[in-house]
Amino acid sequence: MATEQNNLAAIIAHCKEYGFVFQSSEIYDGLAAVYDYGQWGVELKKNIKDTWWRSMVYMHENIVGLDSAIFMHPTIWKASGHVDNFSDPMIDNKDSKKRYRVDHLIEGHVEQMSLGNELIVQMEALLAKDDFGGLKQLIEDNQIKCPISGTCNWTEVRQFNLMFATQLGSVAEESDTIYLRPETAQGIFVNFLNVQKTGRMKIPFGIAQIGKAFRNEIVARGFIFRMREFEQMEMQFFVRPGTQKEWYEHWKKTRMQWHLDLGIAKDKYRFHDHVKLAHYADAACDIEYEFPMGFKEVEGIHSRGDFDLKQHQEFSKKKQMYFDNDIDEVTGKPYGNYIPYVIETSIGLDRTILMVLSEAYTEEDLSTEDKKDSRVVLKFPPKLAPIKLAILPLMKKDGLAEIARSLMLECKDSFLCFYEEKDAIGKRYRRMDALGTPFCVTIDHQTKEDQTVTIRYRDSMAQERIHMNDVKDIVMQALK
Ligand code: ATP
Repeated sequence: MATEQNNLAAIIAHCKEYGFVFQSSEIYDGLAAVYDYGQWGVELKKNIKDTWWRSMVYMHENIVGLDSAIFMHPTIWKASGHVDNFSDPMIDNKDSKKRYRVDHLIEGHVEQMSLGNELIVQMEALLAKDDFGGLKQLIEDNQIKCPISGTCNWTEVRQFNLMFATQLGSVAEESDTIYLRPETAQGIFVNFLNVQKTGRMKIPFGIAQIGKAFRNEIVARGFIFRMREFEQMEMQFFVRPGTQKEWYEHWKKTRMQWHLDLGIAKDKYRFHDHVKLAHYADAACDIEYEFPMGFKEVEGIHSRGDFDLKQHQEFSKKKQMYFDNDIDEVTGKPYGNYIPYVIETSIGLDRTILMVLSEAYTEEDLSTEDKKDSRVVLKFPPKLAPIKLAILPLMKKDGLAEIARSLMLECKDSFLCFYEEKDAIGKRYRRMDALGTPFCVTIDHQTKEDQTVTIRYRDSMAQERIHMNDVKDIVMQALK
């Protein structure tokens, strides 16, 4: 049985063996912190995206979607502050030549030594002031060692920009440096007026986007937790200045409810309120989930003021104002022109996948007195499971395959079905457990006589005889 410590290793191995996640460029020995999703991983990913999109866009009449380009005008990243500030304080160990993010090094030390929160609070205060000398002092005073060399022989703390740069244009001398976007949010900000005007959106309203982001993470670890190429699901909610506090609280609550609706227990989550706030932000928090490696951020919720739109107005010289013709009860006049304030919700898709996998991955001991037995089962909520229904004729001959095919035809337009006629039925069930398929139906000789099939439920492994005509409804019901 897996312990907490080796659980992540077990999940990584399972993901590879069953076609969920592969190391990128594996036959060339891989590319660090870049991953590919295999045949079942891509389905899981799509289902999570759909769940988020449905809850954010379809369930809110005042939120619409967007798909902006990855490449954007380089000035956008000047305006957003990423060129100057999107960096992490790093420190190198002179003996091992390994580079660490200062916050990770200190957090790792606190975790390893089982220390209290005091050091973290001190670190966050120094980070908030960009006090690099103080951070180095803190590392030295606490004798934090390099996990590789075991020494305290550190360089100074330096900033390292996380954006990937590339060239636009065919001739090097004429080319412009552009960046692979490190977040999807800026694509939303620069389209704020396009969407507002063409969509006739009235404040408060939101724009949602799912897309790739790229960060040259120095210390990429934790499988798909920290990647160099990843996906974000972000929503920027534009509000009237002065109302941001209540909307911030609203989105904190709404987003936490989304997490709980995945069927994950409340005690696996916690809010982490930021001590270090960006100068323009008036509130920020993370939703943290208890991964196999401990509580870590999966989503950020930020009250960003009018910083982003104001910056784009300044750098582009194009007005980013909204005209609000609602009447202000105090003055009796319309609110008029203003730059809206923004509440952002930003969740990593890949981190959500790791969260859902961590939650679903279960090793069960099924041994009886006479026989040792066990299974690995992914207990996905049905709506997230890659395959919803496996259709398994007991054997190919005697017309059983034809009946199974007819059920396949009836269901495959509505949800992903998997057909398999090879191997003993027990083996086929176990394979479906390992992929997280909530329902299997077996077609046998009795089916020919009375059109009944055996349905097997993944979690309980219970089996019952039902009419073939009811199969589709049972699955559809579970997907609601
Ligand atoms: P961290 O502190 O873990 O680096 P962050 O605070 O920089 O994360 P944000 O900029 O707020 O992250 O991005 C929003 C979300 O995007 C995060 O909550 C996370 O789920 C996801 N994310 C950020 N960086 C990565 C990455 N390198 N790999 C995978 N997901 C990421």
